[in-house]
Amino acid sequence: MSQIYQKRSTTEWQSLDAGHYMHPFTDFKDQMERGSRIIVKADGPYIYTSEGQQILDGMSGLWCCNLGYGQQEIVDAVTHQLQELPFYNSFFQCAHPPSIELSAKLAEVAAPHMNNVFYTGSGSEANDTVIRMVHRYWDLLGQPERKIFISRNNAYHGSTIGGASLGGMGGMHGQFTRLPYVHHVDQPYWFGEGGDMSPEEFGLKAARSIEAKIKELGANKVAAFIAEPIQGAGGVIVPPSTYWPEVKRICDEYGILLITDEVICGFGRTGHWFGADYFNVQSDLMPFAKGVTNGYQPLGGVMVGDRVAGVLKSQGGEFAHGFTYSGHPASCAAALATIKILQRDKILEQVRDTKGAYLQQKLGALADHPIVGEVRGVGFVGAIELVGDKAKRTRFDDNSSAGAICRAACIESGLVMRAVGDTMIFAPPLTMTNAQIDEMAEKARKALDLTEQRLKK
Ligand code: PMP
Repeated sequence: MSQIYQKRSTTEWQSLDAGHYMHPFTDFKDQMERGSRIIVKADGPYIYTSEGQQILDGMSGLWCCNLGYGQQEIVDAVTHQLQELPFYNSFFQCAHPPSIELSAKLAEVAAPHMNNVFYTGSGSEANDTVIRMVHRYWDLLGQPERKIFISRNNAYHGSTIGGASLGGMGGMHGQFTRLPYVHHVDQPYWFGEGGDMSPEEFGLKAARSIEAKIKELGANKVAAFIAEPIQGAGGVIVPPSTYWPEVKRICDEYGILLITDEVICGFGRTGHWFGADYFNVQSDLMPFAKGVTNGYQPLGGVMVGDRVAGVLKSQGGEFAHGFTYSGHPASCAAALATIKILQRDKILEQVRDTKGAYLQQKLGALADHPIVGEVRGVGFVGAIELVGDKAKRTRFDDNSSAGAICRAACIESGLVMRAVGDTMIFAPPLTMTNAQIDEMAEKARKALDLTEQRLKK
């Protein structure tokens, strides 16, 4: 097959990039000055730059290529679907086999009370859909005054106005006008905010900030609480064991809907289909995206539990919401192929029973490093906290940029890890072999050594 673009030198690509391409979450001025790293191909857990460097991808693309690269079966499924039916919409009483089959498949793998799905093109659109659907639900129940969403500081739920309002990222909030009906409460970040409390005590305290907010705002006005089972972009924050049971108790007691944002935790990251399954908590809605197609096609959606679907499907009246690409056939084909591989190759079982523990043990061993304060994680996702003082859990000076230095040192060592402030995070492909996990741990240690040396200077 002929290539649709010509091969150019790295500097040619960088100059076209700087001239025309405005990247997501990017300081455009800085991008033009520094030049982008051009990624030209990928295979297994590795990506390759235009300069020929091989880099182990410790972030699965952007938490999405859970099966890594080079998955020919997904490519074939998408190609076949594009040839058969590249597009048709799902409006006006139409449907097509891939979207129908995927809906049934998702209902099969999700918890027994999750039997319906609404498709979007991304995780952000999935969370916008959540807002629309929750408001519709309470309206249909004759409680239109229930409009408030409770979310958490430092949550990430996407970048649309709805998603970013639900999210709790101060840097994002400063750049647009938020939806007025979203309120934020404490995050269960013991390492950063737990002080002298035990993790268990702190988990309860963080959960009870939801209850305090409900009482402050009026229980009859609160529609839903939304949270990532494990915060991802906020720094892979695994809540203490006491947190989720208490959250569930509070949502049940006040009758408010519980939404688990599964965009990162979904499709095997924790060794379960969804993060809610890992924490053994029943939620009412589950926005998802990313890993559902192994990142090979854009697709998001919301799994709708019976409590909400029962009302929406029995009451009648149009739900005036949807997207051109809701249930795109090629994306649904990619998702079907992805789920087939996850099931056939017993990927979740491996993460849950063997490989997850191996990864956590290997990366966990980095906790002995002089600049590491904690390593935490579940399955194939985790975080490494960089600290100036291990015992006191205190950071380096504000302007030390330890995280940014470490991220650059990782790339130099041939590894992608992401920095959230001074928290290094990882979410590698679930298909990594033990040898590749060893390689990742070695490269991470090398990067930590380099970071320590550079911080001393
Ligand atoms: N929710 C969560 C938990 C996410 O991590 C993300 C993306 N990182 C989103 C929503 C938004 O997804 P998208 O970028 O596909 O819009």
